[in-house]
Amino acid sequence: MKFKDLKEKVYELNMELTKAGLVTLTWGNASAADRDRDVMAIKPSGVAYDQLKPDDIVIQSLEDGAVVEGSLRPSSDAPTHRVLYLDFSGIGGVVHTHSTYATSWAQACRTIPCFGTTHADIFHGPVPMTRQLSDKEIEEAYEEHTGHVIIERFHQAGIDPLHFPGVLVPHHGPFTWGKTGKAR
Ligand SMILES: [Zn+2]
Repeated sequence: MKFKDLKEKVYELNMELTKAGLVTLTWGNASAADRDRDVMAIKPSGVAYDQLKPDDIVIQSLEDGAVVEGSLRPSSDAPTHRVLYLDFSGIGGVVHTHSTYATSWAQACRTIPCFGTTHADIFHGPVPMTRQLSDKEIEEAYEEHTGHVIIERFHQAGIDPLHFPGVLVPHHGPFTWGKTGKAR
């Protein structure tokens, strides 16, 4: 896929998050990967949604995180997205928000039990939660270690990330993913 098309796609994904009311201020970001070109495209850091343009989307190498195209800094959560793409090879899109309800569960350090059919259509059980990050991990590289605790949670329990396309990080919020940025 051309970088221009990838940036357009990720721009639209980010705008859909605000329209759906899932984003508070600038605290949310969507990305999509192009596996053929070994890159991901993500929202830039700190740009208000009503100011965001397709050209602002930053293209980063999946291998080392280097910016391949774009003049703005990638979202501060980019290292979490990158770690997820590198480990969960079947995913093509990642979304992180501080949406009110999911974040409330994360702040309360509670997994979300499956109470309804819509939940069951998407998750094969309760929405999982990672362990808390250690002080050392938080100080060292909070965003990158957030990615590592997510994959640790899935590996330890042998969970298929496509059967459980999201997770709660305690005291933070939800990270979700899919085969594409749009897939639930
Ligand atoms: Zn966050």
